Amino acid sequence: MSNKSISILGVRVDCLTNGEVLQQCKEWLVADTGGHQIVTVNPEFVMEAQHNKQFREIINSAACSTADGVGLLFASSYVSGGACRLHRLTGVDLTMNLAELCSRNDKRLYLLGATGGVAEKVGMELKKLYPSLMIAGVEEGIKTGYSKDQSDNVLDQQICKRITDSQANVLLVAFGAPKQDLWISENLGKLPTVKIAVGVGGTFDYIARVVPRAPKWMRVIGFEWTYRLMTQPYRWRRIITAAVRFPLAVLFSKSTTLNSKL
Ligand code: UDP
Repeated sequence: MSNKSISILGVRVDCLTNGEVLQQCKEWLVADTGGHQIVTVNPEFVMEAQHNKQFREIINSAACSTADGVGLLFASSYVSGGACRLHRLTGVDLTMNLAELCSRNDKRLYLLGATGGVAEKVGMELKKLYPSLMIAGVEEGIKTGYSKDQSDNVLDQQICKRITDSQANVLLVAFGAPKQDLWISENLGKLPTVKIAVGVGGTFDYIARVVPRAPKWMRVIGFEWTYRLMTQPYRWRRIITAAVRFPLAVLFSKSTTLNSKL
């Protein structure tokens, strides 16, 4: 766990630059120190973690917790009075960084998640960008996975066997949060070859261009949510959580903290 981190509403996010995250990943890839889980926290994660204790504990004990969402950058400055500066690392950028790292170090990447041939398309896109990249495997998402019944356990075991047989070193899981992060937490110990596992949410859909990505200027100023609202209006509940409920909760928690200190 990083020694530079901030707690936002009880959820840990590491104040690491993108270069530091990459350096850490490189060390994990070459060392023989087991598997490391990376969580890519956004405001929806923080709100989900308020009532989902298991998810909160997974984030707080992950090997690395990155900030994927401009809302978190504002929240961290506000909560720490400017002392902690988070750096945004999107799922797409982290995926690209890991693909490049794998290709440079002869490591194998496994893509698990999304549906309709998306994972396969992501594999092809990454190969175009990094021709020497070894794709250990691509596999569609599952519709079950952490609501445990017998069939889920069997399914998980089969997936773990395929990943292990493929000798994958880096595993990207796109089941959406919190499912992907719970799945990794539960199964990483059964994947001896995997050094890094990351829940990447909708990243595969972006890379495969199944879902349009907001223009860069919108992402930079923190207005990606307006674009998402226009292109995916059915997500309005989640967008309200990220763009309205989260900032209000941060504002409220700080004023509560200040009042209790008076
Ligand atoms: N997904 C999946 N299995 C599931 C649920 C979701 O493979 O049981 C995939 C879904 O197809 C999508 C990805 O998970 O490609 C991310 O879903 P979503 O957009 O909801 O995640 P977000 O990025 O918003 O967290």
